Amino acid sequence: MKNIAIIGSTGSIGTQTLDIVREHEDLSIVALAAGSNIRLLEKQAREFRPAIVGVWDDDKALELRNNLKDTDIKVVSGLHGLIDVATYIRSDILVTAVVGMIGIRPTIEAIKAGKDIALANKETLVTAGHLIMPLAKRSGVRILPVDSEHSAIFQCLHGEKHNKISRLLLTASGGPFRGKTREELAGVTVADALKHPNWSMGKKITIDSATMVNKGLEVIEAKWLFDVTPDQIEVVVQPQSIIHSMVEFEDGSVKAQLGTPDMHLPIQYALYYPNRLPLPGERLDFTKMNGISIEAPDRDTFRGLDLAYLALTIGGSMPTVLNAANEKAVAMFLAEEISFLEIYDIIEGCMKAHRVIAKPTLRDILTTESWVYDHIENMTRG
Ligand code: NDP
Ligand code: MG
Repeated sequence: MKNIAIIGSTGSIGTQTLDIVREHEDLSIVALAAGSNIRLLEKQAREFRPAIVGVWDDDKALELRNNLKDTDIKVVSGLHGLIDVATYIRSDILVTAVVGMIGIRPTIEAIKAGKDIALANKETLVTAGHLIMPLAKRSGVRILPVDSEHSAIFQCLHGEKHNKISRLLLTASGGPFRGKTREELAGVTVADALKHPNWSMGKKITIDSATMVNKGLEVIEAKWLFDVTPDQIEVVVQPQSIIHSMVEFEDGSVKAQLGTPDMHLPIQYALYYPNRLPLPGERLDFTKMNGISIEAPDRDTFRGLDLAYLALTIGGSMPTVLNAANEKAVAMFLAEEISFLEIYDIIEGCMKAHRVIAKPTLRDILTTESWVYDHIENMTRG
């Protein structure tokens, strides 16, 4: 039996993880946490019977505690609650399905407690990869990628332990605005940006896909997961989202992982690694396909990619600035406070004004996040 804890159980990755658990008798949910959606969390708690449930919002936690008083499920709240769920004693693996930097502390504590990590929450590695990867190594825990591109690379690297990577080819769909000019992007609405052509995901990552900041974050995520340099990571646009990423080895051989765009596969692979289990769903039919095309990304229009490469090359606290500025800017765009293209301006403005901390501690990362929020407040007010 594998005991699973999930932080972010009510979201896109969280609910798809529960789909997998529902299908397998040897998987059991022992701890769940979410932000504020207690209606769904209560349903999940009643179905999967975890020992402990965490809610970020204190008032909602009180309400859920009351609603679950006919059960013996413990309800906890806030950051401490999130950490209690992430480190729950009986869990073997933590699925990090929360969105944003809020995932850093629970992930670090879970690693310290010896839990394997099925990592969806890329913002944690982008900002704290230099702390997390060595900590995982020291603690003897595995970081198992859930992000589809990184799962693809991870699958390609299976059995290649002693062979050197020459390049990672990270595929991108190009998002809903692929082919559009900067002028055309100026007036796009939130509804336009939320229409992803291939994937159904949470709102924040869907906007990140439209700006291609998502691919930039994934470049940084790949650097930490696979220990490569920025110039070993190339982004290519693969509009059908069938090739999930590729690895080129020293002899020029390229391995790719292909499949339909369905996150159940990388989630299940992370939960059962290194085993593959049956998974129902659509299969690729190569004879009916209109081809699998690959093109170069339009880096001038979708500036998110180059901003991320720059942040990665500068290193230190700069990826935190990129990430925190993006989190705030996306929230502002979703609230219709700024335009689509202003997301890039805000990220760039913060990166230009930031004084880099070379080897940021956890405290430095969190201080940098606050500095970014204050800076955006000043930038947009002034
Ligand atoms: P969603 O927005 O769908 O879900 C986010 C989850 O996090 C929800 O359960 C939400 O709870 C919870 N949450 C938010 N804030 C807090 C908080 N402060 N404390 C506790 N829980 C919180 O996001 P996705 O599932 O799309 O994405 C999750 C992560 O996975 C992101 O980092 C994303 O980049 C990554 N990812 C997602 C993919 C996808 O296909 N969706 C693909 C690859 C990576 P509530 O519902 O109550 O708000
Ligand atoms: Mg991805």
